[in-house]
Amino acid sequence: MHSVFRRACLALVFGAAPLPAATLYQHATLLTLAAGADTAIADGFMLVADDGTIAALGAGGGDASPAVVAAQKSPGFATIDLQGKIVMPGFVSGHSHLWQSAFRGITPGSELPAWLDALHYTYGGFFGPGDFGAFTRHGAYDQLRHGVTTTYNHSHFIGRSFENYQEQLTAELTVPQRFIFSWVNDPSADDATWRARLKPVLAQVEPRADHALLGVAINAIGIFREPGYLTRELALAKELKLGTQVHFLEASVSQESDRASWVRFKEAGAVYPGISFAHFIHTDDTIVREAAAVGAAMIWNPLSNGRLGSGLAPIEKYLAAGLRVGMGEDGQASADISDPFENVRFGLYALRIRRENAGGLQPIDVLRLHTLKTAEVFGVQRWIGSLEPGKFADFLVVDPGEPGTGAIWDVPATIVFACSSRNVAAVYVGGRKVVEAGHVIGLDAAKLENEVATRITALRVRATAAKANGATRPLH
Ligand SMILES: [Zn+2]
Repeated sequence: MHSVFRRACLALVFGAAPLPAATLYQHATLLTLAAGADTAIADGFMLVADDGTIAALGAGGGDASPAVVAAQKSPGFATIDLQGKIVMPGFVSGHSHLWQSAFRGITPGSELPAWLDALHYTYGGFFGPGDFGAFTRHGAYDQLRHGVTTTYNHSHFIGRSFENYQEQLTAELTVPQRFIFSWVNDPSADDATWRARLKPVLAQVEPRADHALLGVAINAIGIFREPGYLTRELALAKELKLGTQVHFLEASVSQESDRASWVRFKEAGAVYPGISFAHFIHTDDTIVREAAAVGAAMIWNPLSNGRLGSGLAPIEKYLAAGLRVGMGEDGQASADISDPFENVRFGLYALRIRRENAGGLQPIDVLRLHTLKTAEVFGVQRWIGSLEPGKFADFLVVDPGEPGTGAIWDVPATIVFACSSRNVAAVYVGGRKVVEAGHVIGLDAAKLENEVATRITALRVRATAAKANGATRPLH
């Protein structure tokens, strides 16, 4: 297909505007977060090709780069001066439930079990058509605005039907945030139906700079269900070569019985290189050793773990044991502001509070955990997670001068200790600017807020009326 026509068509799928022409970003402080690149380039350039990938980057203005020289001759070529700004990769959330964005602040004094009662088991059964879609869009735009350019959406099969469930996927396809969809197999369906429903979803996966769906994984729920269920889920994941994620060792109160289920994980084949354990807080030495030995991963969600009083995962111990670690925002009903800057800062501080010293993880480490390392957990580091030639141009322009943070002594420390998402001047996905000064370009944010508020009001009425009638709806 002719490239201009193709780009215009893809723009209809991916968002509002076609990809821009090749663009040279100059005079930026570049923090690429590539492996081994622990210091920033003080005055650097980054060339983004017209296909939305990074063509070249390095120190200086780029005039000596053959790629820049070639791009300068292309139609529409543009140069943007980023003097005083920091350019870094977009954050990657390794564990999120986007639909929960509509439920912030809910049941503030509860740990996980009562929180689940107040949220999933109170409202989940009463979602109407369009609710999952609107709430998911709300969550995705919120993450994007805060600098999360790729999210792992661990979807939920609460709600009334498969059609309702699927809204979590279709809604995200309308948002320019890249995502990996963590798919729940309908508990009431058989294996053949599982396969038939997954097939068209897998067909939509295409790692391309201007396409949102980067991958599909399995959200395994079998450990919470009857024997054999987890085995079915893992068999399907392995047959289709998909990763798997599962909530494990989150709440403190259930840690003993959770740890006891490790044997069941092993029996079901769930301890394999494709699995990532969300939270993984209350481990013992055997679990850590066996998980690390097989190449499994965990996703650390410090804001959510703090909010729900779940506990603090021993991240430094995990890294020393060779366990792969990524970071997640979790849902906005348990990490009520999806600010990755706050997530890395709070996480690092929490570790230091427990250590009672400032050794261990450093700002560069938590930034890399929330970007490249999370991408590596899902095997998508070829496309995202750091700024390197050939990867998608998913990046943040951080302005440490607005709000002002003073002099810069150490770039990673300025980002982690002194900046928040208020310092995000712009967010780019696949070379296209999607957020400017905190606002998603082309989004009628007030309209979406109104829609979500109206839907929540109606949902509460339905749930309250049903409860008054003594009705309960079985939940998955
Ligand atoms: Zn979760």
